[in-house]
Amino acid sequence: MILRSRFVVPVSGPPIHDGAIVVSEGRILALGSWPDIAAGTGPGPMVDLGETIVLPGLVNAHCHLDYTGLVGMLAPPRNFPDWIKSILAAKAGFSDADFTTSWHTGAVQLVTSGTTTVANIETMPAGLAERRAATPLRLHSFLELTGVRQQRDPVSLVAEAIATLDRCRSGPGAVGLSPHAPYSTLPALFREAAQAARKRGWKLTTHLAESLAEFEMFMFRRGPMFDWLHGQRPCEDCGLGSPIQHAAVHGLLGPDLLAVHVNYLWDEDAALLGRTGASVVHCPRSHDYFHHQHFPSDPLIAAGVNLCLGTDSLASVRTEPGRRSTLSLFDEMAMLAARDNTLAPETILRWATVHGARALGLEGMIGQLSPGAHADLIVLPAPAGIGLVAEEILHHQGPVLASMIGGNWVWHRPGYEPAGLVLT
Ligand SMILES: [Zn+2]
Repeated sequence: MILRSRFVVPVSGPPIHDGAIVVSEGRILALGSWPDIAAGTGPGPMVDLGETIVLPGLVNAHCHLDYTGLVGMLAPPRNFPDWIKSILAAKAGFSDADFTTSWHTGAVQLVTSGTTTVANIETMPAGLAERRAATPLRLHSFLELTGVRQQRDPVSLVAEAIATLDRCRSGPGAVGLSPHAPYSTLPALFREAAQAARKRGWKLTTHLAESLAEFEMFMFRRGPMFDWLHGQRPCEDCGLGSPIQHAAVHGLLGPDLLAVHVNYLWDEDAALLGRTGASVVHCPRSHDYFHHQHFPSDPLIAAGVNLCLGTDSLASVRTEPGRRSTLSLFDEMAMLAARDNTLAPETILRWATVHGARALGLEGMIGQLSPGAHADLIVLPAPAGIGLVAEEILHHQGPVLASMIGGNWVWHRPGYEPAGLVLT
């Protein structure tokens, strides 16, 4: 199959005007200008995508699909522990069926808004294999581990998680472990999860240095999170250093870690993340919802940290009056561009594509259009009088025109039906 479009944006190379992509057996065989590709390949089925921009499918490096139904239910809190209390109360009113519906609704929102790969935090082991099979997304399922409130032994908790994930590994994505956060786990769980994941070549992810309250708890043994938790959790590990240092001491930092949020850094933290090769996932709308301090992109970039983007969950996304928020990396890119005008549109697009791929160990396979990569791509309208293509991409809102994963069309907008575009 040959796809022709007004613009092909490989991300790994400069945009191609009147471009074409040759797709065979789920992979990209070649790409270039339409005249060159047409001359080189001879007759074959061609899909003319029209006045469009084709770019790699987006890589959402942090999501909670099962919280999609909590959209608009939680008002921005006074402090972070208050939000945790309010989400725990809201979740208590949700049944397993509610969470399952929520998960599927979120997956559809991602597919239609241009995500083709997602790192999702899974809180429900039951039904995970069925949910994985039900979505065309390249789904990386990270099973959430906490254990503090239930006083679970970290060794058995991790063993149980691995047994669950071993039953669910089929499909186009992968599985991994997500010890939830420093404050909601014991240090032994960080160590046990890191060891077990690395033994299997799995990725790890955790919420890290998200709030000022978490930073104060670990750094200074004070603040609203410490006050709330010190009766519920052993706190010998508090007052010893920053959350990043805590993760380092307990063996979590490494090139296989996706550290989510990382809003509050101590002096050497950026360098420490850079040295260990951990990726950092920024979630711009969640960051805005909590009114965190400015995301420290400058020191992280200077330290060579791989920065990528995630949607987080809709439980921590502001809902504008009259517009129901949905999971969309385009909305995250737009929020980031609005909050930080020092970042070029091309940089933001790289965070949402190749950097996410690198974090998941799939650089060259997803997040870019290049020979040998998976044919994961999305189609956007290219309006007449288009200026900079990267800027046009960042301004896109709503569903994409069409989405392909592994060479299969998995979505097209009603009314956008070029000849040859057939859903599988
Ligand atoms: Zn999260």
